[in-house]
Amino acid sequence: SLTAGIVGLPNVGKSTLFNAITKAGAEMANYPFATIDPNVGMVEVPDSRLARIDEIIPAKKIVHTTFEFTDIAGIVKGASKGEGLGNKFLENIRQVDAIVHVVRAFDDDNITTVTGKVDPLDDIETINLELVLADLDSVNKRYERVEKIARTKDKEALAEFEVLKKIKPVLENGDPVRSIEFDEDEQKIVKGLFLLTAKPVLYVANIAEDAMADPDSDPYYQVVRDYAAKENAEAIGISAKTEEEIAELDDDDKADFLAAEGVAESGLDRLIKASYSLLGLATFFTSGGPETRAWTFKKGMKAPQVAGVIHSDFERGFIRAETVSFSDLDQYGSMQAVREAGRLRSEGKEYQVQDGDIIEFRFNV
Ligand code: GDP
Repeated sequence: SLTAGIVGLPNVGKSTLFNAITKAGAEMANYPFATIDPNVGMVEVPDSRLARIDEIIPAKKIVHTTFEFTDIAGIVKGASKGEGLGNKFLENIRQVDAIVHVVRAFDDDNITTVTGKVDPLDDIETINLELVLADLDSVNKRYERVEKIARTKDKEALAEFEVLKKIKPVLENGDPVRSIEFDEDEQKIVKGLFLLTAKPVLYVANIAEDAMADPDSDPYYQVVRDYAAKENAEAIGISAKTEEEIAELDDDDKADFLAAEGVAESGLDRLIKASYSLLGLATFFTSGGPETRAWTFKKGMKAPQVAGVIHSDFERGFIRAETVSFSDLDQYGSMQAVREAGRLRSEGKEYQVQDGDIIEFRFNV
């Protein structure tokens, strides 16, 4: 499954945030025995639609879909030259599908920073430079090799060479590959290059607890937000320490705490949702029988592939997908009313599943 890697300079609050994630994950009712890699934290994806579906079509239990974060420790300046845990660190980033880049955005004289000051912009640029340098290294190596093959008029090599020619000057300018627009064919080639700066990024400013209610008025957060906007990336402000404190509370206590802080949703929940959409993930539901359940699929997937998320037999024997959108069920209030309104659709092999679809798959066994 897809995973987002948590990256950042030492002492910015990564472990604190990762602890919040694993504590929240440990609270998951439906996964009590999940044993996973200690560097992987699994959380439920919050989704208020589940409760509404269950209200209309009651089941014994509700099952959320899950999402994985990977803790990637160890970047320092010079990582691209192999300093610190440099190479291992870069290899670990290569394995993840998106990057959650945490920066220090709170003042606390007791907690030192590697640079001796709190400067989120400088932190971001330090890490991004290491990633750009690592990519430039890969691209330069590839460039010479592909240039030679391209001289033989080999079609694939020519296409790749064009892409490399597009990427190289951008990296030389210090900018990430994700800032470049590629067409669909080019995107495939870029994917095969496994570049670090091609991955989607979410910037997380670890802000002071008293900035939680209104991150936009926090000067540190503003810097991070504006930097992200320039890159077409997302940013969120959260207080890692607070998230760690509330991760173990039950839903009611958590809601009380957040209300007292003047916050509508926990930072962790916002982080999970933002990471999920960063990866192009979406949710479909199954209902009826013992459980109301959310599942994850990748946007653009067709019905049989989505059926395969539940079980490979469903994909192999796929016949059709009886589908109703969440908004229709919500509006009409019962399956019977949905049917009478002609909003229950029988979708075939070519149907592109939409976020919020509630599906019953028909299949041959
Ligand atoms: P890492 O090296 O990036 O994993 O950073 P840690 O999570 O170990 O955090 C470094 C120090 O900062 C620890 O002493 C944390 O308790 C503290 N810290 C982390 N997040 C916050 C926060 O939101 N506010 C404050 N005041 N301290 C924090």
